[in-house]
Amino acid sequence: MTDSYYQILVDEDADEHGAVLLDLPPGIELAIAGNAVVSVFVSEPAVETVRLRVADSFEGIVTRRRITELTDSMVRLGDADGATLPGPSNQYRILHFRCLEPSCPVEQRRIHVDPRSVPQCRLGHGAMLVVR
Ligand SMILES: [Zn+2]
Repeated sequence: MTDSYYQILVDEDADEHGAVLLDLPPGIELAIAGNAVVSVFVSEPAVETVRLRVADSFEGIVTRRRITELTDSMVRLGDADGATLPGPSNQYRILHFRCLEPSCPVEQRRIHVDPRSVPQCRLGHGAMLVVR
């Protein structure tokens, strides 16, 4: 797997401003990563931009515009079933974490939680909590 594995999802012209963080597990398949991003955009209509991080490595900025392009052009994302980029899947419920410190803006989205490694606030406030 190279750094460009998820490149098809990335919008090279995107502005990172206002992006929400989506943190995905190591080695996640491209089709599943795509599904997870779609799930964020569908479940959170106000979100236009996602910072994609896989296994603590920043992969790029994914935009609603880019995903819409992919969907419109029916680009396949390597799904074994040959499915095109689909709507949100119930398999990939997005977990939205927030810092417990009321004034702290840190938050992130994940599709998995290892109970041994609940996400920690990067500003040092401790474990974050699922808000939805
Ligand atoms: Zn915090």
